[in-house]
Amino acid sequence: MKNREGDFVDFPRARTLMVEEQLIPRGIQSADVLAAMRKVPRHLFIDQNFHGDAYGDHPLPIGADQTISQPYMVALMTELLDVHPDQRVLEIGTGSGYQTAILAELAREVYTVERITSLANAAQTRFEQLHYANIQVRVGDGTVGWKEYAPYHRILVTAGAPLVPKPLVEQLTDGGKLVIPVGSRMSQMLHILTKQQGQLHTTTSCPCVFVRLIGQEGWEH
Ligand code: SAM
Repeated sequence: MKNREGDFVDFPRARTLMVEEQLIPRGIQSADVLAAMRKVPRHLFIDQNFHGDAYGDHPLPIGADQTISQPYMVALMTELLDVHPDQRVLEIGTGSGYQTAILAELAREVYTVERITSLANAAQTRFEQLHYANIQVRVGDGTVGWKEYAPYHRILVTAGAPLVPKPLVEQLTDGGKLVIPVGSRMSQMLHILTKQQGQLHTTTSCPCVFVRLIGQEGWEH
């Protein structure tokens, strides 16, 4: 397999370089997050035509006008979420399933919601092929969360929202954390919300650009 420059790609080495050249120099510190990024085969979450560029420092198309996020953004959001091994995590925006797999390396259970059926089905197939037994996938509008398994210790939204969807805050445990890009259709700011004794505390991390979170509590289209 060749990359854009025409060089042959050694995937395990490409993952090591991704961690050492893109993640550590930009400040990703969590040993668990770095180990998950070294382990999960990102190239298996995208079309074979893009395998050569799978570990590049950029997002890639995954079909249905959607994208798999840049590796650094996946690592940053995961580090901000601060996932522990005994926790239940809800992810909104399964996409390719790559971020879901990273979360599944760190959490006890991961529940993931995707509005586009073809993407959810492809992700489900990948989870089975890679033997992830702690992931549940649902097709639907994730802006209303997934009530059946709530509350969640951690919630990650991987699409840009106009506002923080209320149902997601309601489905967070006390002491829980929600990471979500919030802003305009064109650009957002990464928000980190923590729920402490019923009160919400919000901080922001950095500007980002995500595809839109479309749904009842998100954008109309
Ligand atoms: N994290 C994914 C990955 O690793 O491939 C990339 C996610 S992509 C940037 C955002 C995803 O959110 C898209 O697949 C999009 O269809 C999905 N999405 C947008 N609005 C949604 C909603 N209301 N509920 C569920 N998924 C939604």
